[in-house]
Amino acid sequence: MVRDILLWPHPTLRKQAAPVDAVDASVQALIRDLFDTMYAAPGVGLAAPQLGVLRQVLVLDTRPRQPESRPFAMVNPRLVERVGTTVYREGCLSIPGEAEEVERAERVRVEYLDETGQPQSVLCEGLLAIAVQHETDHLVGKVYLDHLSPLTRVLIRQRMRRRKRERAMAGPPAASAGDAL
Ligand SMILES: [Zn+2]
Repeated sequence: MVRDILLWPHPTLRKQAAPVDAVDASVQALIRDLFDTMYAAPGVGLAAPQLGVLRQVLVLDTRPRQPESRPFAMVNPRLVERVGTTVYREGCLSIPGEAEEVERAERVRVEYLDETGQPQSVLCEGLLAIAVQHETDHLVGKVYLDHLSPLTRVLIRQRMRRRKRERAMAGPPAASAGDAL
């Protein structure tokens, strides 16, 4: 089911998500909603707090940019290794119409539970590495703007406040200016 995506600034997007005890039917339903909402947006990543759910669950599908990749659902993901640095122009489904260059690790290893509850470990490269760092930030109450200067954050906050007012009055959502995560 496609659900509404919270728009930044929003208090829920500042909160720490709780780890999942068991990958049960409710978590699997949440994963389906995350995929449905991400594909409808469209975007290449989405984290549960963006749907207002403070649980450590995220989905990724970077195949628009990485055809050799595949979709991932990650429960309780942990970045266990970071290698190198890279800069990528990121967007966010919670911050539509904006995109900024963010410096992150070039490659990361992530350990997580998959949608069946099995432990997995994957080495992420390219956009998948960017996206998994972006989405795990959402699980600890961070957005990509937290990696930027305070001035940039203030300017984008002002534009987002205006967009939220306009959206409250009417109109379909604006497309994201970058790869939306
Ligand atoms: Zn995001």
